[in-house]
Amino acid sequence: MSDVSPRFRFAPSPTGFFHVGGARTALFNWALARRLGGRFVLRIEDTDEARNRPEWTDGIIDALAWLGISADDPVFEGPHFQSDSAQSHLAAAERLVASGNAYYCAMTPEEITERAGAEGGTGYGGWSRDLGLGPGSGRVLRFRVPDGSTVVHDLVRGEVSFDNAVIEDFVLVRGNGSPVFNLANVVDDIEMGITHVVRAEEHLPNTPKQQMIWDALGHAPPVWGHVPVLVNEQRKKLSKRRDKVALEQYRDEGYLATAMVNYLMTLGWSAGDDREIRPWAEIESLFRLEDVNLSPAFFDIKKLAAFNGEYIRMMPIDEFVAECDRWVPADWDRERLAAIATHIQPRLVTFSDLPGIVDFLFGDVVTDDDSWSKTMSTEYARPLLESTIGQYSELGDWSADVLKSTLELVMEPFGVKLGKAQAPVRVAVTGRTVGPPLFESIEVLGREETLVRLGRALEQLAT
Ligand code: GLU
Repeated sequence: MSDVSPRFRFAPSPTGFFHVGGARTALFNWALARRLGGRFVLRIEDTDEARNRPEWTDGIIDALAWLGISADDPVFEGPHFQSDSAQSHLAAAERLVASGNAYYCAMTPEEITERAGAEGGTGYGGWSRDLGLGPGSGRVLRFRVPDGSTVVHDLVRGEVSFDNAVIEDFVLVRGNGSPVFNLANVVDDIEMGITHVVRAEEHLPNTPKQQMIWDALGHAPPVWGHVPVLVNEQRKKLSKRRDKVALEQYRDEGYLATAMVNYLMTLGWSAGDDREIRPWAEIESLFRLEDVNLSPAFFDIKKLAAFNGEYIRMMPIDEFVAECDRWVPADWDRERLAAIATHIQPRLVTFSDLPGIVDFLFGDVVTDDDSWSKTMSTEYARPLLESTIGQYSELGDWSADVLKSTLELVMEPFGVKLGKAQAPVRVAVTGRTVGPPLFESIEVLGREETLVRLGRALEQLAT
């Protein structure tokens, strides 16, 4: 196989949204296909007709492109649609019948349960193996599982041995004539020349069956790599009911693709040093399946947020401002946005937080009762605001440094520290107790608006 350039594939079943686990699988395949000079084949496993919509495929392609897996890259091939290959799946099934590796079975599920119960077992006991049945309505086609064992060579898990005795003669084609996942998946992989199957661990139980099909169809199996499952805080497998698993949702909340990609690549893999944040080009040159570990990987949203913050801080300021632009209403003053941007960048976690952090600069200040009572009920609040207004009105230089040192002078007679002195000023000017650096915000807001807001707060305190 060494003279063949490697062909990887990503084979999602369209389900309406793109699972973060799928994103990681796609990225693992992409990294390998690129590093090894191979191909990344996208195959949409769309054979479950009841659950398919063309727009879901567009969603997959968009999500991949967002991750940097571009359909325009020469490494990318597809999309291929599994539903287009139904004839090949059935032709392969016929070859398996002809070679004696598959046989028809007319037993209904009820008959199987009854007979298994009577014989003290549970599964199907190969009872139709030697009946020589031909095809017929309602008859399933089963694989004749050979004796012995099946050894799967997995680059992540090493050698995994399965005792064939515990694998029943599984179904290849349903009674209605439609091919089953294991058959369709393998036949497509064979016909697409796939050399490496890198996918989620949950498919490991399918693998001995699939390897038997590869074998029976006269092909050496691919290199397997089953990557560990993603779990939540309770160490439970990520589920769409319980957890936030849709990649699109993170994208819409303003996570950067670069941060998401880097974070996903750390789930189950490390380059063997302490560095986790590194650019894609470096990840691509270092990623090896042999270094993927076996334990379930915790998809930690807090850590993802920390990565996002890191990536935001690494953005050149022009790029950061351009990104901010997309996240705030069109009628907000762009000059003002650019002016506050450098002060926001060090602390922003996701871009969807942005409007709520800086809105006080673009419209009337809205103060909630809680913030007000927490900061304005002190004895010094009123005289301090009064004195601040007095001093600020006289300032020639309206810059953050001067605004700060002026407040430091103002606060002295009240015997409070800067944090305490800032609080009523901040609530008066921004409406909130937390937010961007205060004096920089005041500088951007400008003298006139600041004084109006401070004055209004004072008036309110007086009533
Ligand atoms: N369509 C399968 C899934 O989405 C993937 C099969 C595979 O990767 O072999 O789980």
